[in-house]
Amino acid sequence: MGIEVLKTCIGCTKCVTVCPFGAISMVDKKAVIDLTKCTLCGACVSVCPVKSIVISREAEKKDLSGYKDVWVFVEFSDNSDPKQQGEIKKVSFELLSEGRKLADKLNNKLCAVLLTDKNRDYEKILSDYGVDKVYLVENDEFLPYDTDVYSTAVMALINKYKPAVFLYPATYKGRDLAPRIAANLYVGLTADCTALDINKDGLLVQSRPAFGGNIMADILSPNSRPQMATVRPNVMKIEKRKSGNVEIVKEDIKIGKNIRRVSVVRRNKEEHTGHVKIENAEIIVSGGRGLKTKERFDVLHELAEILSASVGASRAAVDSGFIDKKHQVGQSGTTVRPRLYLAFGISGAIQHLVGMKNSDIIIAINKDPNAPIFGVSKYAVVGDGYDILKKLIEKLSERKEKVGN
Ligand code: FAD
Ligand code: SF4
Ligand code: SF4
Repeated sequence: MGIEVLKTCIGCTKCVTVCPFGAISMVDKKAVIDLTKCTLCGACVSVCPVKSIVISREAEKKDLSGYKDVWVFVEFSDNSDPKQQGEIKKVSFELLSEGRKLADKLNNKLCAVLLTDKNRDYEKILSDYGVDKVYLVENDEFLPYDTDVYSTAVMALINKYKPAVFLYPATYKGRDLAPRIAANLYVGLTADCTALDINKDGLLVQSRPAFGGNIMADILSPNSRPQMATVRPNVMKIEKRKSGNVEIVKEDIKIGKNIRRVSVVRRNKEEHTGHVKIENAEIIVSGGRGLKTKERFDVLHELAEILSASVGASRAAVDSGFIDKKHQVGQSGTTVRPRLYLAFGISGAIQHLVGMKNSDIIIAINKDPNAPIFGVSKYAVVGDGYDILKKLIEKLSERKEKVGN
């Protein structure tokens, strides 16, 4: 990769003001880039009004020997909620737990990347998850999230410290940031991995469903670094492990306000039914096409109320108009990992199973004794889904009344 300023430069100096690394100066009214300072972050490219700065990205045989360590992008909860401000999201711990295993296999360090307005003793929290090193960048510009701001900082860290593996959560932010970085660096990115491993050549094996979920593909990035993958929340298991001393590498990256090309005008908080969003639910009562009608499906909400559960659905139920898509569990919906998953009239197609098979206890109700969902269920109930749903509500209500009295 390289960078150059074309003769078409009109000398507007916009690039000088956005460069976080002071790499651009004006010489004879033309921008000149100091290649010893430039991290190829790309911030100047996007502000140039006449597209005079070009980063070349032709694939080249790189020396990969200097790339080491496993990095995880740590995501914080939605900053618009003051109660949750600065709280590390659960998915980050899931990725760190998985990252720890990969780092052990590579005999590398596990590093957490923190872009935040201020450090809130995060290293103490992260030391419970086997983190060896924290790359910390503090800047008020990290609130609220912005693609240009975040990618500029992350690119600078990557170009300076050269990680071998970089994992991002497949959340709204991670799904926005990781492709931007992959495109800027001209490296591969595997989205929505369901398993990660290291092969005998020390390469990251990125497994994910392909061809509509009918096969599992193992994807390698042998010629570029970092090897980058996104993983959805609830796919990896949290496993705590105490670190020794967590080393903190504090990077001062100057981020000017003018890097942002997008400003948030208004945030609309979406209402959702059920007790909690399905990705965070401890109990999910889920329904499929086997419940036949929307009226019958709606009875699931009564059971959810009794159990303080959230309502999930198969894609067929969503497509039939029984419930909104945000309740869909599976490959093209949400991945869940509740303590209890109840499935009424769901067949157990592979695209549904990948989204819920990691639940602690699965109870399936289906009229077909050979339904594939029984293959992942702890308890299999063969019978009419709607009848059993009604009976369950009746029994649980009776019990609740007795306990209440
Ligand atoms: P069906 O397959 O119609 O099964 C209904 C089940 O109900 C059957 O097992 C039947 O025996 C049972 N049944 C019927 N009557 C009764 C009764 N009276 N009592 C009890 N049981 C009864 N699917 C998802 O769920 N989530 C996804 O994210 C998803 N993503 C996909 C992505 C792609 C690219 C593709 C190609 C497909 C995807 N699908 C997804 C669709 C998936 O392949 C299945 O079509 C879908 O999961 C089927 O939903 P279902 O089990 O509710 O319906
Ligand atoms: Fe500065 Fe980034 Fe442009 Fe390089 S790519 S000159 S570091 S803004
Ligand atoms: Fe030249 Fe573009 Fe920089 Fe303006 S932003 S000085 S036109 S390279």
